Amino acid sequence: KLHNTILELKGNIRVFCRVRPLLPNESGAVAYPKSGENLGRGIELTHNAQMYSFTFDKVFDQLASQEDVFIEISQLVQSALDGYKVCIFAYGQTGSGKTYTMMGNPELHVQKGLIPRSLEQIFQTSQSLISQGWKYKMQASMLEIYNETIRDLLATNRTGIQDGGSSKYNIKHDANGNTHVSDLTIVDVSSINEVSSLLKRAAQSRSVGRTQMNEESSRSHCVFTLRIFGVNEGTDQQVQGVLNLIDLAGSERLNKSGATGDRLKETQAINKSLSCLSDVIFSIAKKEEHVPFRNSKLTYLLQPCLGGDSKTLMFVNLSPEVSSTGESICSLRFAARVN
Ligand code: ADP
Ligand code: MG
Repeated sequence: KLHNTILELKGNIRVFCRVRPLLPNESGAVAYPKSGENLGRGIELTHNAQMYSFTFDKVFDQLASQEDVFIEISQLVQSALDGYKVCIFAYGQTGSGKTYTMMGNPELHVQKGLIPRSLEQIFQTSQSLISQGWKYKMQASMLEIYNETIRDLLATNRTGIQDGGSSKYNIKHDANGNTHVSDLTIVDVSSINEVSSLLKRAAQSRSVGRTQMNEESSRSHCVFTLRIFGVNEGTDQQVQGVLNLIDLAGSERLNKSGATGDRLKETQAINKSLSCLSDVIFSIAKKEEHVPFRNSKLTYLLQPCLGGDSKTLMFVNLSPEVSSTGESICSLRFAARVN
């Protein structure tokens, strides 16, 4: 591993918590970052007259900007250029700020999320390494996992359900630890402009799927992957890194009233895959021998990028609304287990 990233990772898994601000039509913030010794790391909530307190690697309060958040992960992003496999997840109930944290609004500087900021940094750094003999090739892909089925968000001929066929998008891992998803569109990217148009295409494709099939993006996991191949023409050194940025499906529990049929099946699939993710990360953190990667599409897809000397960061996104306190505590418990 080359450029020697300085990152003290506890078992290579870290958890950051981010509380979004109240939106104009909301009232009553309840999640308070803790002051004092745990400044910036603790969070407290009150629910049914009980106080709940959690500590993470970092807590971002309502005032944290997209840039404040990016500053804290930029070294992790950098390590993908150094040849590491990196996964950054956003976990939380629908409406808690996962998509804002990951993607934000790529067109507006202050609202840009981690994906556009990470790509900008990677392109800038790779340019600056040209003088040291480094040449990089980057490949991007973007997919969605809905009800354990993969959909290609960059397919140009995407027409509704057509690409959901079961023989497509089989996941294979080769002996070098590289993942191949059959028929998945892989796009060579060499500039930030190319990436911008690619992100637009993916966003469009996500919303097309939504209206045509009556689903919301909040019901699927969205996985953005950037593969980085670096060669030093002076020294013949080679590096291969991967950066995965994952906007997870909403973690809200099943509403006991109402959900039936497809909706019920959908929620059960989400709950199952999120608990599989937690099981996998938990057993990696505990250095258990058997890691149950194969129990869900998402964990199987990411298998080579979880564990080993790869690096994982989980964002727990929280809504500050009083009515969300129950869900927030569930999300914090999930993350505390992962931590
Ligand atoms: P999720 O993806 O978890 O369902 P979103 O990212 O769509 O949630 O966020 C819900 C709403 O809150 C959106 O309108 C979004 O723009 C807004 N929002 C989320 N986080 C922030 C933030 N940190 N600052 C300002 N607005 C935010
Ligand atoms: Mg979202």
